[in-house]
Amino acid sequence: MPSPATRGGEDRPTCVLIAEDEESFADALTVGLSREGFVVHVAGDGTTALNLFGSIDPDVVLLDQMLPGGLSGLDVCRSIRATSSVPIIMVTAKGEEIDTVVALEVGADDYVTKPFRMRELIARIRAVSRRSPRGGPEVEGAQRTEEGQIVVGEVAVDPDQRRVHVRGSEIRLRRKEFDLLLLLVENAGRVLTRDVLIDRVLGSDYIGDTKTLDVHIKRLRSQIERNPAEPELITTVRGVGYRFAAPGR
Ligand code: CA
Repeated sequence: MPSPATRGGEDRPTCVLIAEDEESFADALTVGLSREGFVVHVAGDGTTALNLFGSIDPDVVLLDQMLPGGLSGLDVCRSIRATSSVPIIMVTAKGEEIDTVVALEVGADDYVTKPFRMRELIARIRAVSRRSPRGGPEVEGAQRTEEGQIVVGEVAVDPDQRRVHVRGSEIRLRRKEFDLLLLLVENAGRVLTRDVLIDRVLGSDYIGDTKTLDVHIKRLRSQIERNPAEPELITTVRGVGYRFAAPGR
């Protein structure tokens, strides 16, 4: 199951606007991002990108630096920034000297150089959308390693191998508990509501069944918390749900 590309506890997929004139590249991005659960809109030039931006209200914008027509990626970035704090990633081709200082000055949050790996782009999209105030509270130090592991403080989760290391030692989790932990660490720093956790991990048949979720959380805590009676990693947000965070943050 692809990791859900949603904003916080909201059940709305993350919407990405891409301004890219190279069709084959835009297609590859669209396929790669859609597979991960993102909703993708493509504009072939700057003016179209700005018009689309106004109508679709994306969560993340990916701007190719060199666009045909009158507006470059930097121009589009500057225009969007005049009205919006949406996360923006600039995309540049190898050999095109991106002026990173200018990119950051006009308000880009990050930039990537073609060619790049889809996984790297997705990690960056997730990172900038988490930093954004629209994405809910600031993420608490979740990082993706080159190998695709998600690391939050002393917990490392490998989604592909389905392995978990806590404070350097591997722990074994049941399938549902692994799924639950993965969802929590992917959204580290954010509160996930009980309904979202139940729906994503247990299935919609369990909605309203609060006990099953609590049992899984309890087992998970017994495996990963230093002191399960006083959990620091998975904290309860009363009346709402749970939140994963590195202790001391
Ligand atoms: Ca281009």
